[in-house]
Amino acid sequence: MSCLGERLTALVDGELGHDERDRAHAHLAVCARCRAEAATLRSLKGRLAGLGSAPEPGATTSPPTTSSPASAPSAVPPPT
Ligand SMILES: [Zn+2]
Repeated sequence: MSCLGERLTALVDGELGHDERDRAHAHLAVCARCRAEAATLRSLKGRLAGLGSAPEPGATTSPPTTSSPASAPSAVPPPT
C-alpha cells in the first residue's frame, strides 16, 4: 500500500469521503510515518485555528468618547 501523501491533508481537513477516510485510517493503523505526519498536520491546523481567533496585533480600537453629561453626575445641577 502506498502512503497517503496529499490525502493525509484532506483527511485532517475532513475533506475525504467515507470510503477514502476508512482507507486512510486503515493505512494510519499500519504506517507510523503517516501517523506522525497526521499528528504534525493536526497540531499545525490547531495552531492556525488559534491564530485565526486571536485579535490582530495591528488592529487599534478608537477610545470611547464620553461627552454625554448624563455619564458625569457632578455636572448635573442639584434639584431645588
Ligand atoms: Zn504511510
